[in-house]
Amino acid sequence: MILHWHRRDLRGRDNRGLARAAGDDPIVPCFVLDPTVLDHASAVRVRCLLDALAGLRAWYRERGSDVLVVRGEASAVVPALAAEYDASTVVWNEDYSGLARDRDRAVTAALEDDGIAVETVHDAVHHEPGSISPNQGEHYSVFSYFWKKWKDRQKAAPIEPPDAGDLADVSGEPLPSLDELGFDEPEASPPTVTQERARERVATFCSGPIYRYADERDYPAAGATSRLSAHLKWGTIGPRAVYAATERAADRAGSADEAASVEAFQRQLAWREFYAHVLAYNPDIVTENYSGYAAEIQWRNDPDELAAWKAGETGYPIVDAGMRQLREEGWVHNRVRMIVASFLTKDLLIDWREGYDWYRRKLADHDTANDVGGWQWAASTGMDAQPYFRVFNPMKQGRDYDPDAEYVTTYVPELADATPAEIHGWHEQTPADRERIAPAYPAPIVDHADRRERAIEAFERARGDD
Ligand code: FAD
Repeated sequence: MILHWHRRDLRGRDNRGLARAAGDDPIVPCFVLDPTVLDHASAVRVRCLLDALAGLRAWYRERGSDVLVVRGEASAVVPALAAEYDASTVVWNEDYSGLARDRDRAVTAALEDDGIAVETVHDAVHHEPGSISPNQGEHYSVFSYFWKKWKDRQKAAPIEPPDAGDLADVSGEPLPSLDELGFDEPEASPPTVTQERARERVATFCSGPIYRYADERDYPAAGATSRLSAHLKWGTIGPRAVYAATERAADRAGSADEAASVEAFQRQLAWREFYAHVLAYNPDIVTENYSGYAAEIQWRNDPDELAAWKAGETGYPIVDAGMRQLREEGWVHNRVRMIVASFLTKDLLIDWREGYDWYRRKLADHDTANDVGGWQWAASTGMDAQPYFRVFNPMKQGRDYDPDAEYVTTYVPELADATPAEIHGWHEQTPADRERIAPAYPAPIVDHADRRERAIEAFERARGDD
């Protein structure tokens, strides 16, 4: 037998490790519910995980097999499964976070002690860390250089799944419930994450919306993005299948603008790989600034302001809409992620690690590389980050990207009867006007202009400019 250990690749199709496992010996597919990994998880993500596992199980069962879902420390249960099924080899797809790599080293050592071979392959990205690098150094820190090479590099086609005959005739125990794993029902209801849903999303997006992506992707009310992030995070679709669908869309493009829009989308897929490369070489960026300053940044970390940000009660409508969308859906539009992250780290001068921690708990698509990359970008501590003196103006962002306040009023019902001008000018209203327009909605907790100055001064002090 050969064991294929599924981790963040919860699909049968276009799965390099699973295809690699196919050969003379039947494949036993497995997944480990590892308590160390679950300790870092959250209810919304475990909900997605269980849905994805149920989808994967259905896929295997249609083929006369199953995925064995076992609980325990991976370094104990993977060797135990290998022994139980008399497996000669265990195959898995590489993961790039520090936590995953520590776990994989422990599992490899335990398997090798038992005389069982380990084979690992790169599957989650088109081009593995180290394969796109500058002349000096292991990875690019500037995205535009990375993108230029990434886009010109040949991409592999989707990989055929093994035949049903390659899969072992096994049958697993029922999946545990959220409760059995120690989690309450999540506050958010994210869309179901399974390989079937992922395929549908890609097909729908690439049949039309992809051609409007470049023009509309920054408008949160437009619903113009692919919503593939949770699927890519859990691996219910693979990067090759997504890219191949975009290439077919490019072939069908009716104009240069439509073709450029497809490329704009592919560029975002490259951001995901850029951050994966950075994380692979810098595992400590989950806790440490990527770009150091001469002195520590003096974060203020006011607990009341942090609580208002988390609750979506800052009195800045687009910030509050984003924070409430996060709680309701476990997903936030990219532009709004940037706005709320800038607000936390600059207007409130709260350490980006507080924001990262909240996102990690609340996002269904939390992906260590993208999440820490996004936070450090917004906090001006990251790779190719926002310069420290560029502080998003939340009112202007609202006016520019949600001109009709459609996004804001979807998530902030207290403002449902206010006009877009009243909403985006909320900070300028007198207390009497605020009471008349939307009495239940809070006044701004801070003055943006003052806080912008204060943030710039704090970063200049950290740089040693004075
Ligand atoms: P689309 O616009 O349709 O993009 C397609 C895919 O490209 C995404 O699914 C994602 O895999 C990738 N992608 C798009 N934008 C980015 C980006 N800026 N960086 C890296 N990859 C990108 N993305 C996550 O997948 N997980 C996270 O935990 C995460 N945390 C973030 C935190 C902050 C503070 C910020 C500013 C951004 C974060 N992002 C994260 C990036 C981005 O916001 C999401 O990938 C995107 O909103 C997901 O929606 P979508 O699938 O509709 O995106």
